[in-house]
Amino acid sequence: MLDKVYEKIKKGEIKDRINIIKPEISSSGNKTIISNFEQFCNSIRRDKKQVAKFLYKELATSGFVDRGRLILQTRSPILEDKIQKYLKNFVYCHECGKPDTILQKEGRFYILKCEACGARRTIKL
Ligand SMILES: [Zn+2]
Repeated sequence: MLDKVYEKIKKGEIKDRINIIKPEISSSGNKTIISNFEQFCNSIRRDKKQVAKFLYKELATSGFVDRGRLILQTRSPILEDKIQKYLKNFVYCHECGKPDTILQKEGRFYILKCEACGARRTIKL
C-alpha cells in the first residue's frame, strides 16, 4: 500500500497537497444551490463568507449559507465559471500555478502568499 503511494510520488502523480473539492451545483426553482459549499471553502482554505461575497457580487444576487450549503437567489448558468474565476484570481499561484496559497489581510489589501514557491501578490478585494 505505502509502496504504491511512494511510487506515485516518484512518478509525480501526487503533486498538490491541496485537493480542491468540486462544488456540487444544483438548481431548484429560481435558486442555485452549492450543496458542499463549506467543504469546498475548507478545501481551498478560504473563508466561506468571503467566497460567498465574491459570488453575490459577480452574479449580482444575494444569498445565504445554510448548514454548509450556499443558496443563491438566482438561477445562474455561469456560477461554475465564476467559481473558476475565484480560483484563478484568489487561489492558484500566478507564479507556479499551485493552489497551496493563503490569503492574508494587510492593511487595506490582501496578500496571496504561495507556500509552494514563496511568491506574493497583492490583491484588492
Ligand atoms: Zn507559487
